[in-house]
Amino acid sequence: MPHYSAKFQCFAGCEGSYPVTKALYRCPTCGGLLEVKHDMNALRDRSAAAWMRTFEERYMRTSWPYGSGVWGKREWVMPEVTDDAIVSTGEGGTNLFWAERLGKEIGLPDLWIKQCGNAHTGSFKDLGMTVLVSVVRHAMKIGDLAPRAIACASTGDTSAALAAYGAAAGLPVVVLLPKGKVSTAQLVQPLAHGAKVLELETDFDGCMEIIQKLAAEGLIYLANSMNPLRIEGQKTVAIEMTQQFDWQVPDWVVIPSGNLGNASALHAGFEMMRELGVIQRMPRLLVAQAANANPMYRAFVAGTEEVSPIAAQKSHASAIQIGNPVSAPRAMRALKAMNGVVEQASEQELADACARADRTGLYTCPHTGVALACVFKAREKGIIKANERVIVVSTANGLKFTEFKLGYHEKAFPELDSRLRNQPIVLPANVDAVKEALG
Ligand SMILES: *Cc1c(COP(=O)(O)O)cnc(C)c1O
Ligand SMILES: [Zn+2]
Repeated sequence: MPHYSAKFQCFAGCEGSYPVTKALYRCPTCGGLLEVKHDMNALRDRSAAAWMRTFEERYMRTSWPYGSGVWGKREWVMPEVTDDAIVSTGEGGTNLFWAERLGKEIGLPDLWIKQCGNAHTGSFKDLGMTVLVSVVRHAMKIGDLAPRAIACASTGDTSAALAAYGAAAGLPVVVLLPKGKVSTAQLVQPLAHGAKVLELETDFDGCMEIIQKLAAEGLIYLANSMNPLRIEGQKTVAIEMTQQFDWQVPDWVVIPSGNLGNASALHAGFEMMRELGVIQRMPRLLVAQAANANPMYRAFVAGTEEVSPIAAQKSHASAIQIGNPVSAPRAMRALKAMNGVVEQASEQELADACARADRTGLYTCPHTGVALACVFKAREKGIIKANERVIVVSTANGLKFTEFKLGYHEKAFPELDSRLRNQPIVLPANVDAVKEALG
């Protein structure tokens, strides 16, 4: 693949491009965000049909590295990384769950859940982290990088993914977590992988501020999605879901959003397919936010380009409890290009959506609950029509959020009405007692 290439460029359009193997997180000219730009002319050496065939032939195979849905699309993702540098746990290839019962209940029979939480570390973060850690290893091989550690601030899933990929590569990892604001599973993951776990008395935004300072001083290599390498891996979810529908574009894609990297990654994936002729139209984008952490929603309602930072309030959707989203400009562009809307869900609405979805066989994390609650609202308002195909990106596995789910069923949260709660019935080991309980 030598003639395919990708470089960093300024998101706002300043001149100049930079190797992706350098530790660079901001435009040297304006200080703004960077993005990865591919040599699109080189990629046009194959027809859209040829690319689709290649991706299908590789999908879910065992030959390294094509067991990964990310690396099966490597020319579109990070073409210069060699096989021996790739750190993969077999990302992507997650199923589309047809939410038949739930969809019927809300008058939306074509409702699908892209189960990105069925992943090695239990969230979609693996898709981006395999690219970032692989580029680091490649950069170390060619002498562009010698990081003391790879590090991130996290609401729990980024740190889990970074710790796992760092451990698989044998690279030191440091994670900054807001103390008491991630689930037990999310705290255990980086501990188990041997990462240095620093719990700070602040929220995610506070951790993000500190990690950016460490990165600016060159003390760590930054693994947050401010680093556009993550977006390149995450964008494959757009390509993969389209491929799973035999290259038909859905009408809507719904995504729970905090730092807004993943929303922009979806756009990047669809845009690349459009530019290379694989698809002819864009789906619409529904960005779903928790009402307690809703800076993008506020900007959308106010009709402003600028997303003003807020102090995020506590949310059960802890992975999106973010008030100052780093990728806001990227997400704004995605929203425009995809004729998007932003909706929000209260704590009660997200909890109800989770419980209701679980009753139909899903096992939803609170963020997916936010997305589903926003689908319910958009359907009621007529924004989403009955005949439209909707794909909800489920960002994490419900098993990571046992405290939230158990707390709901035990009615442990005084502020929440647990109307769909279900409780175990404790009985003596006695057949008659069991018969009586059966009713
Ligand atoms: C990271 C994460 C999100 C938010 O993604 P952003 O790119 O920060 O918007 C949503 N849900 C889960 C479970 C996450 O881990
Ligand atoms: Zn710039």
